[in-house]
Amino acid sequence: MARIAAIVAADPGGRGIKPLLQPGAIDAAVETLLAARHVVICSGFYIPSAGVCENDGPPGVMALGSALTGSERSVGYLTDSRCANIFRALGLEPLFVDKLPDDLQTDVLVAIERVGRTADGTYRNMRGIDISAWTAPLDDYFLAAPTKGIATIGIGDGGNEIGMGAVRELVRTTIANGDVIASTVEVDHLVVAGVSNWGAWGVVAGLSVLTGSMLLPTVEGARDHSVACMAAGAVDGRSGRAKASVDGLGWEIHARVLQQLRDVVAAAIL
Ligand code: ZN
Ligand code: ZN
Repeated sequence: MARIAAIVAADPGGRGIKPLLQPGAIDAAVETLLAARHVVICSGFYIPSAGVCENDGPPGVMALGSALTGSERSVGYLTDSRCANIFRALGLEPLFVDKLPDDLQTDVLVAIERVGRTADGTYRNMRGIDISAWTAPLDDYFLAAPTKGIATIGIGDGGNEIGMGAVRELVRTTIANGDVIASTVEVDHLVVAGVSNWGAWGVVAGLSVLTGSMLLPTVEGARDHSVACMAAGAVDGRSGRAKASVDGLGWEIHARVLQQLRDVVAAAIL
């Protein structure tokens, strides 16, 4: 598990996430998920300048949702109406698209690359731009979760995502634009990764090790998910362009991380 955590913590994009890393978070997230009957996974980061959703997040949702879905467990998906088409391109039907319910019934809530509110109540992208007008308050469910007995997991890579509340002082002092973008929304288990999709793959790798079966997508399968997102209009959140790159990193870097995780899992479940 330490090897898995080290792989997903690689930071080739130079975002400065090292101080934010939470040792043992993947292990704790995996245990929480394995004990759950119902899991809801939330993602979708809208890029107003591009008029579409970014391509970090939904592929991670796809990988985690597929790994968790089975006879013992149901998985639901949550996103904004503006990002729903990207979910659908992956064959994932969001639970609610236009009207969000006051209450959400689940055992565990997971956020993957999903923006969380800042101290002034606005939602900010990594450049510090206010994207509140394009963002549904899905973090409300995370804020309410502790009083409803719902466990929460957050996967993020920049400091502005749901879950980063626990490390917000570090985000403010160590991440670019940190004082503006730091989210105040906390979760039970915070998985910080070089790219949020990698954090999701890391959790799936952990699930694979503990269940003794390879649950990670193949590199080709993950590439297909990325291409499906791109075909539906999703863009690289860094460049704002529809490319196979994610967070400004070429596909070969993502493929290498996934292959490393697959190798670790394969060796562990022999
Ligand atoms: Zn991010
Ligand atoms: Zn990202």
